[in-house]
Amino acid sequence: MIRFLFVSCLAFAGHSFSADLKVGEPVFGSDHYTEYVPGELPLVISSPHGGALKPESVANRTSGVRDADANTQDLARRITAEIRKQTGKQVHLIISHLHRSKLDPNREIVEATQGDKTAEKVWAEYHAFIDLALKAAVARHGRAFFIDLHGQSHKDVRVELGYMHSTSSYAKPTDKLNGPEFIATGSLMFINQIHPDRPYTDLILGPQSLGALLEERGFLATPSPRMPVPTEPYFRGGYTVARHVVADLKIAGLQIEANRVRLRDTSTNRQCFAESLVSALLVYLPKWMNLELK
Ligand SMILES: [Zn+2]
Repeated sequence: MIRFLFVSCLAFAGHSFSADLKVGEPVFGSDHYTEYVPGELPLVISSPHGGALKPESVANRTSGVRDADANTQDLARRITAEIRKQTGKQVHLIISHLHRSKLDPNREIVEATQGDKTAEKVWAEYHAFIDLALKAAVARHGRAFFIDLHGQSHKDVRVELGYMHSTSSYAKPTDKLNGPEFIATGSLMFINQIHPDRPYTDLILGPQSLGALLEERGFLATPSPRMPVPTEPYFRGGYTVARHVVADLKIAGLQIEANRVRLRDTSTNRQCFAESLVSALLVYLPKWMNLELK
């Protein structure tokens, strides 16, 4: 059933691609290396490092991180399915199908593609899909929340919530954390604008922060009330969040780094985390973004 349809024109790497986009029906970029499932909710999820394709026609990257984030594409699809199950509605989902040894969409184009022309085109398509999804969400709902979904295997087992702040910056005094300079460097600045009366520390490490909501559901997380300053190593958020999460465009979001042990390692654990994250988001997004998903 077609619940929502819009026609759009995508500018892809110098040429235009027109498509009728229907909620829940995937469309693909060149050679099916990128996939976009259009949604109707103000929530956009991207999966940059779960791709498996290693075509010979795309050169291998020779520097930087080239290992995939195991099972993260499956996790992103489970989260999407769980939201559909709990709300009856579809999120926007963007997936990179190329293995990270061929393309790293979470880097600027030079490090991402290392000069391969096909990879450059796919990189542009991937980010054009995210732009399209966020624009559609903001046009329909007046705001959007973005999650760039990753996986890490750090020794300290916890979900890392990347709001673009470094570990050392979280150790600053509370008045600095609640000051405009610190807020302006983070990916929740738009939420701060919605709730100017609430300290920024409530958003990132308070009892109703995403970290706290995940811990209540059995998944250790940082930053959180338990661990307000993440131990190193910690992923603070990367290129994709920095590029697409723009407060002036009414977008907030973060990079979520799901640990492998007890979370991504088995299908049962991935399903359990997907259900817990969705449960947390169904509290978090109405509260902080004033968005009802159901
Ligand atoms: Zn990653």
